[in-house]
Amino acid sequence: MTKFILFIAFVLLVTGCAASTKLTARYAPDEVTLALTGRLVIGIGNQVLEQQQLLLAGERIVCVGSVKQCPLPDGVPHIDAGDGTMLPGLIDLHVHLRAHYLDWFLAAGVTSVRDANNAMSQIETLLAIEKRPRLFWTGPLLDGSNTVMRHFGADGVVKPGAEQQHTAWTLDVATAAEAEQAVRWLASQGASFVKLYEQLEPEVYQAAATEARAQGMRIMTDLGMHNTRGLTAAKVDALQAITAGVHTIEHASGYALAYQRLGGDPNRLPFDEALIEQLAQATVRAGVAIVPTLSVSYSFADDVDQIDDLPAARQLKANQEMFSWYQQTAQGRAGHNESSKLSHLLAATVVKRVHQLGGIIGAGSDAPAGVWNLPGGGIHRELELLVRHGLTPIEALETATRTAADILGCQDLGRITEGALADIIIVAGNPVLDIKQSRQLSWVIKNGVIVKAPAFAESPEE
Ligand SMILES: [Zn+2]
Repeated sequence: MTKFILFIAFVLLVTGCAASTKLTARYAPDEVTLALTGRLVIGIGNQVLEQQQLLLAGERIVCVGSVKQCPLPDGVPHIDAGDGTMLPGLIDLHVHLRAHYLDWFLAAGVTSVRDANNAMSQIETLLAIEKRPRLFWTGPLLDGSNTVMRHFGADGVVKPGAEQQHTAWTLDVATAAEAEQAVRWLASQGASFVKLYEQLEPEVYQAAATEARAQGMRIMTDLGMHNTRGLTAAKVDALQAITAGVHTIEHASGYALAYQRLGGDPNRLPFDEALIEQLAQATVRAGVAIVPTLSVSYSFADDVDQIDDLPAARQLKANQEMFSWYQQTAQGRAGHNESSKLSHLLAATVVKRVHQLGGIIGAGSDAPAGVWNLPGGGIHRELELLVRHGLTPIEALETATRTAADILGCQDLGRITEGALADIIIVAGNPVLDIKQSRQLSWVIKNGVIVKAPAFAESPEE
């Protein structure tokens, strides 16, 4: 009998995914562990395909096709999606993790996350937990000496190489040499991304970016928004970051500063179309992705108080500490609304134009930052907002699946194709017709293992 052979030569230990684009798989019927049948979105290309059958062997998808092309072997457990839709497991490209959120993400269909800032000690704790989304991470971010991160505790900010480096969430880098040292240490820890923050000096920023590329790491950057420190404390704008060689610009940050430096007034409507065009063109030309996290800027700009339709709302209500924390944030947002609205609108305007020009948009929530921006639930609100700002539902779903996986450097994740990792969700209805259907999760499968089933959803302890 033909042995089950995967033509994926290497599986990276750190990320659990491969950069190979040649994904083909052979299987023997007795090696199939699970089968699913139903409507498929984001298999190959953008079509919505009815009556597709998927066969899984362990952690990989080994057959995708019609019921005839992928016949169901005897005795294999089978899930019929019925009127529901099968999609790749969702990827949230911008989260701030704590151990107790891990289940919230899984319950919301988020099977991979990119943690955007944490101490190495915290990352190690998270990695040691078995039931969790796939974890991509930056570890501590790099910022200038005046970093706002000191507000979260002065002991969390240290110089690279300091004794407390392991428990720090920010590395204070003032020179190119310190930046290189910090990046090399993060590479040695296994970080796949380096996060460059808003108060780095331009030459230090460039040195960090150059070293990260030399180490084979990717670069994410948060340059501040115009309702935070983006027009006051930030040194580097979005155009400079693009020139420095970053891969993703978080929150569409740094565009307000670039807009201002080009002569625009980011606090005045309507925005100057020619300047927006210039910023969008530069982004698209360089192939830089924007992870706009509209869900967080929106949560301050609008009086969002509705959470009951978000997955993981039940988990939030069961967690009194988190619930009251969100309540306090909601009370504190009054008075921030005007600048938050402008900030959100500038981000959304840039995103819309970048998308129209064929640029790369990735989905991230920034959860739990913001108001009622739930871990897990936030990505579903992000999808809704991306549709509101010009993406079709299927394009929005791509930002949290295939495109997100490409941003992570994983060509065998975020898509339902033969050889890909078996992260699959089933939602009720068809999210291509109504993006809010993405919230109606019935099944969540990660790495070929069922982590949420309709029966579990009824259980009181969840
Ligand atoms: Zn963040």
